[in-house]
Amino acid sequence: MRAFYCDHFVLPLPDGHRFPMAKYRLLRERLVAVNGHLIRFEEPAAASWEDLARVHTRAYLEAVRAGTLESREQRRIGFPWSPGMVERSRRSVGGTMAASRAALDEGTAANLAGGTHHAFADRGEGFCVFNDVAVAAHALMAEGRVTRPLVFDCDVHQGNGTAAIFRDDPAVFTCSLHGEKNFPFRKETSDLDVALPDGTGDEEYLEALGSALATAIDRHRPDFVFYVAGADAYHGDRFGRLALTIEGMRARDAFVFTACRTAGLPVSVVMAGGYASEVGDIVVIHANTVVEAARHATRASDGLLRAP
Ligand SMILES: [Zn+2]
Repeated sequence: MRAFYCDHFVLPLPDGHRFPMAKYRLLRERLVAVNGHLIRFEEPAAASWEDLARVHTRAYLEAVRAGTLESREQRRIGFPWSPGMVERSRRSVGGTMAASRAALDEGTAANLAGGTHHAFADRGEGFCVFNDVAVAAHALMAEGRVTRPLVFDCDVHQGNGTAAIFRDDPAVFTCSLHGEKNFPFRKETSDLDVALPDGTGDEEYLEALGSALATAIDRHRPDFVFYVAGADAYHGDRFGRLALTIEGMRARDAFVFTACRTAGLPVSVVMAGGYASEVGDIVVIHANTVVEAARHATRASDGLLRAP
């Protein structure tokens, strides 16, 4: 399976910043060391400003490009502006675009970053500058390769930016499984929202997951799936309020990839959030996601996928 990485484009953060930026490099290193035989690692091109403009407003893009975001806009994003932040954000979107094209060719592919689902058309929020999945969905639709994408978002935080971007777009179905009491505190309306109570564990989560994915596929009849595989539904997460185990998280991933394969759907998987106090736990959860994807990619080459 092909996996796209951009951890070497560093987003400079002040000491003690709460975003675990090291997780991306550690994730790639772990995959290289342990699962290197399953994965081909590639550097994506940066998303172009034209690609980004299919989703984001000209005014917002210009402020990000020129470094004229106001300080409250930077605080809402949670990262200080720098040229490195701009390049890294464009590469992260480029990774999701590249993984999505690879998934169309090979069934499954991964971006070892991305999942920046709190970015709206006109603003960033919650460590998200650009909405990678929205930009990739628009690119694939513009290329005529995808007509009815499903965004299946299992990050513990609602995919509010994605929901808002596609609110009036019947071609794109947004489904978010998230912690009812987690950020964002004012939720947007996805096509299907599943708000889970604090402390939801493996069993209840997997039940809700199965029913949400079946409903989304049944209602929308998608031809492509973006899987936003946040690591923050884990019980050890500092920002999440759910209580899945590492095995439960892995079962979640295996379920999504199996269900998509059974339905003949290509899947592009992106990492999204993960804030466990032990960075090693975050890395294991993300790595398990990528390995489950790779296993299914291998099986998908049996010819079960629809011809392009
Ligand atoms: Zn999150």
